[in-house]
Amino acid sequence: MTTPMTTAEWICTRCGSTNRRLVPVAATRAEDECYTCHTRHQIEAESRPVRWRASPT
Ligand SMILES: [Zn+2]
Repeated sequence: MTTPMTTAEWICTRCGSTNRRLVPVAATRAEDECYTCHTRHQIEAESRPVRWRASPT
């Protein structure tokens, strides 16, 4: 059985790039690394379903 996944989209606070990461549907937070500048961020789900809030770790 596969875990249903959804796309979390977040904006890098350092370079402004849009990143996307597949996360489990039930997840509300995750960690990801910017594809462009490789800064690690903690991302948190907000009320809007796709765009997540990012803060550097
Ligand atoms: Zn970046």
